[in-house]
Amino acid sequence: MNRRKFCRTAVAASVAAAIPVLPGCERKAPVATEADASLAAISLDGTEIELEKAAIKELGESMTGPVLLSGHADYDGARTIWNGMHDKRPALIARCMSSEDVSNAVTFARERNLLTAVRGGGHSWPGKSVCDDGLMIDLSQMNSVTADAETQRATAQGGALLSGLDAAALAKGMVTTAGVVSHTGVGGYTLGGGFGRLSRKYGLTIDNVTGAELVTADGKIRRISADEDADLFWAIRGGGGNFGVATAFEYQLHPFERNIFSGSLVWPLEQARDVLEFYAEWAPGLSDEMYAGPGMATLPDVGSIIAVDIVYNGDPAAGEKELAPLRKIGTPVLDAVTMQDYSVMQTNNDIAFGHGIRSYAKSGMVKEFTQGLVDAMIEAYDPRVFVGNHVAGGAVKRVGELDTAFPHRNAEIMIVMATGSHDPATDDELIAAARAYYKALEPFMGGYYDNIDFDGDEAPGNYGPAYERLRKIKGEYDPGNLFRLNSNIEPG
Ligand SMILES: Cc1cc2nc3c(=O)[nH]c(=O)nc-3n(C[C@H](O)[C@H](O)[C@H](O)COP(=O)(O)OP(=O)(O)OC[C@H]3O[C@@H](n4cnc5c(N)ncnc54)[C@H](O)[C@@H]3O)c2cc1C
Repeated sequence: MNRRKFCRTAVAASVAAAIPVLPGCERKAPVATEADASLAAISLDGTEIELEKAAIKELGESMTGPVLLSGHADYDGARTIWNGMHDKRPALIARCMSSEDVSNAVTFARERNLLTAVRGGGHSWPGKSVCDDGLMIDLSQMNSVTADAETQRATAQGGALLSGLDAAALAKGMVTTAGVVSHTGVGGYTLGGGFGRLSRKYGLTIDNVTGAELVTADGKIRRISADEDADLFWAIRGGGGNFGVATAFEYQLHPFERNIFSGSLVWPLEQARDVLEFYAEWAPGLSDEMYAGPGMATLPDVGSIIAVDIVYNGDPAAGEKELAPLRKIGTPVLDAVTMQDYSVMQTNNDIAFGHGIRSYAKSGMVKEFTQGLVDAMIEAYDPRVFVGNHVAGGAVKRVGELDTAFPHRNAEIMIVMATGSHDPATDDELIAAARAYYKALEPFMGGYYDNIDFDGDEAPGNYGPAYERLRKIKGEYDPGNLFRLNSNIEPG
């Protein structure tokens, strides 16, 4: 059967059947229940398969959420993810509203050996949450977050965003580690590790996960924790989406003052050597409360700068004192370190990293901020590449290498290299620039953060000593490797 012809028939049929409906009870079009032709799709091994009309209809009827087909008004919005470089068209999108919906979609995919992508917040740099011609399990509507002051726990559904997690926790006077762009999804972010500006005090986000609900490849909805399915619970804390669809996470919260001493110190790039050489000596002695991350960028109307991002999670007077030596370095053009509302700080990167940008990124873990690294960062600097960071050390480093599936515990900092453009014509040139900068810094880095890496093609090596155990668990819970659109672990 000709695949393209097949698709066209299905699309035409679904569009023709358009009658508005609400998920689950009334009618909405064109959704799976109205498919009046089979659909061409792709199997896990890349061969073409056919999804029978009756099976698609049955999936649609089994779900409370809609199964969107090409031509539905919500189809394009659902398949569009953050990075504008990825424009993929799933054969069908299961827009799940409940764990049972997820279970039905997983079973449908497993029984047909169907290529499957799982979409949480859609921020995957390499675009792994969407696929051509397969099934997209879309969690975007499963996005509620609740927090409880008494138990000091928050529960977030698998498609929630970090903004929701921060907001629910802050409303109860608490917080947990969350990343620096609030429209990132809790799903991929948490499963890969989770770096934020409070990591030095509270650890990575996975160090604050106390339990989860996971739909495994057999369709079973499992509640997992240190006491239930402990192997799985270990694996999802760093092993990404390899083990199933996380429909909920439970997080440990920490009492928190809403206002926080934070902001940036900025110098012209010419002063980068003074700043970075000072930083290399100063940073290893910093308290867990102090987050100080150096970055370089070239901004329109401003020019090239070096900045140190400061967040002090404690008494502001103590923060002022600890920061004082850095303030004496060179001549900053801007000192914006001041008291600010935590939620303002957590959203101040949201526009710069807005949806639709075409972005490439790489990262590397740094154990020691050496003179060689300082020289390389300055000599190889390319104004087309944004050089950022995530600071580690502190509580991140005190967790054992194999206590979770995230092994890069001895790094002091992660260097991030990213590009951004809205012009497809610049993709190749910008990717080459970021790769060249990465190459120059590579001798001073060891391993990378899978969540911030466009290539992420060194899965076994990068999981390090955690890999063998991960393979074994993968073999047990996903022997057919249904969940493969991630930093993939071969079933053992
Ligand atoms: C602008 C931006 C800022 C970022 N800032 C930070 C930061 O501060 N700290 C940090 O640590 N990282 C950061 N990241 C990286 C981020 O952690 C990853 O991009 C992460 O994968 C995003 O999760 P998501 O759910 O939004 O992504 P998605 O694209 O939805 O998914 C990413 C991967 O996770 C899988 N997945 C997602 N949700 C689930 C789920 N519920 N169950 C099973 N599998 C799932 C997907 O299948 C895919 O393989 C940032 C990324 C971007 C683009």
